[in-house]
Amino acid sequence: MHARATYAALDRMRVLIVEDSEDEALLLTHELKRAANDLSWKRVDSPQAMQQALDEGEWDLVISDHAMPHFSSERAYELLCKCGKDIPFIIYSGHMDEDVALSAMARGVHDYVEKGNVRRLLPVVQREMKGVASARARLRAETRLYQMANYDQLTGLPTRRLFYEQATRLLADQGESGGATLLFIDVDRFMRINNTFGYAVGDLLVRQVGARLRDSVSQQGIVTRMGRDDFVLLDAAASTLEQAHIVSQRVMQAFARPFKLDGREFFLTLSIGVCRFPQDGEDVGRLLVNAENAMFRAKRAGRNNFQFYVQEMNSMSAERLDMETSLRHAVERGELVLHYQPSVDLASGRITAVEALVRWQHPTRGMIPPDKFIPLADETGLIGEIGQWVLFEACRQTKAWHDEGMSGMSVSVNVSAVQFRQGDLRLVVADALAQTGLPPSCLDLEITETVLMQEAEATIATLNGLKAMGVCVSVDDFGTGYSSLAYLKRFPIDTLKIDKSFMRDVTVDSHNAAIVRTVIALAKSLGLESIAEGVETGEQVTFLRAEGCDRLQGYYFSKPLPAPALSEFVRRSPRLE
Ligand code: C2E
Ligand code: MG
Ligand code: MG
Repeated sequence: MHARATYAALDRMRVLIVEDSEDEALLLTHELKRAANDLSWKRVDSPQAMQQALDEGEWDLVISDHAMPHFSSERAYELLCKCGKDIPFIIYSGHMDEDVALSAMARGVHDYVEKGNVRRLLPVVQREMKGVASARARLRAETRLYQMANYDQLTGLPTRRLFYEQATRLLADQGESGGATLLFIDVDRFMRINNTFGYAVGDLLVRQVGARLRDSVSQQGIVTRMGRDDFVLLDAAASTLEQAHIVSQRVMQAFARPFKLDGREFFLTLSIGVCRFPQDGEDVGRLLVNAENAMFRAKRAGRNNFQFYVQEMNSMSAERLDMETSLRHAVERGELVLHYQPSVDLASGRITAVEALVRWQHPTRGMIPPDKFIPLADETGLIGEIGQWVLFEACRQTKAWHDEGMSGMSVSVNVSAVQFRQGDLRLVVADALAQTGLPPSCLDLEITETVLMQEAEATIATLNGLKAMGVCVSVDDFGTGYSSLAYLKRFPIDTLKIDKSFMRDVTVDSHNAAIVRTVIALAKSLGLESIAEGVETGEQVTFLRAEGCDRLQGYYFSKPLPAPALSEFVRRSPRLE
């Protein structure tokens, strides 16, 4: 009785319910009876049934689930539109992303109500049934759409698109004598926060960062969020060099205080690139590019500082900067790919492992080999993100191979010098394993001999941490560095990987032959496995077999291959000699 009083009931309502579950439909009609004295309804769960219902019946309202096994709200709405009847269409479904709901409304769907939310459903039904208010609802949806398109959901700051518009106007208003300052702001090592505390905490921090930046800009300034953790600030009140300094300093100072979240304190630092209008760029696009380049200089200068854009940066190393800028986006744009090179167990002749080798499919320069961009990634700190992607993707692919029947296959992932020294390697590895479900024993981390021997004590601690998780560790490019045998014994490692440079002429060059022989013997005496890489000929195979090498990898067997080609290769060559 109470409900009837709250929702002044309509006399008659004929509802077409698009829903695959009979129970859900019954629950729904039970609620709808509170909104109408005389309710008639029909449930349909396929396009054919809906079409028939539309052809044969008269309806006041359509209420549709969003995703059904053989049907969807999109398709249902399409059918309704096609039949030319102007009937309100409401989506009533479990959780739906806001942008999906909004884009449905943009196409003309009248409203979206989350399943179970009867308190919202009934008023919506009544409003739609009365017709007149639906124009207002439409307007509200449009306003929400505008909000979505122009304001970042997380920070409430103008989106990149609105920023461009506002900034262009702001610069045009400066006139002959005016000027402005643009800052490209990147939060240092933000990835780590995401990795350590999760994306939810990362999001909350980004929101606070946005608020602090907005507070540090003058009335004549605008702030936008460009990427996950980078922001751009344009201040038209800062027209002189001195004012540009002051703005940059003010922003740095705004971050001197810690951020507080869940009773925890986070200290964040910024790397800022500063650019001036009109000296350093005559339009927003140019200013952004130059300020981003200056930001990289701030990163290289050790982070937590700001750098002004200098003209020479362009001519001096335009290509390098260009590489840096595009490398920065390579992961998010999906331009990195992994190829896999198999290695063969000599005793069984079977492919027991693959090495994941990264390549960069650059949109204009074509395929770039790792030697050309991993050092750059190391230098700029981008290796964190790239290395994380490589680890995750290699584990994901290998787990998929396990599921396809190649059980026991292990994957080796190269870990760069900088990546190895970053404090969060263990977490990143644990995360990749947990997310993909790959058994730790099937992951092998390759660390070069040079990295291994630097800061040996710290290295041992890091390796112990990794080993404790159950992953394997190989020493890559062994023989090229200078290994202390005393240390070698203390490192918790599994495999020595003989550098490919020794493979050259190994059958005729007695010097190389001696090195390879020694390394294999050394591995044996330390209880380690030995792998030869860069094996190109049958003679090399014979030699390595005679010396007792455990595993071989090289073009003789296969080049690094894209994932589908690799599994095809393994399937077709169960045994290799
Ligand atoms: P690496 O770990 O020593 O990898 C072996 C390299 O030798 C690979 O080159 C492979 O394609 C090449 N190779 C394999 N078989 C033969 C052969 O029979 N003859 C010759 N001449 N070469 C052979 P790639 O893929 O260009 O990788 C070069 C280096 O880049 C790797 O050396 C590794 O240090 C680094 N790298 C590759 N992927 C990654 C990655 O995901 N992360 C990091 N940090 N470094 C990577
Ligand atoms: Mg390697
Ligand atoms: Mg190697």
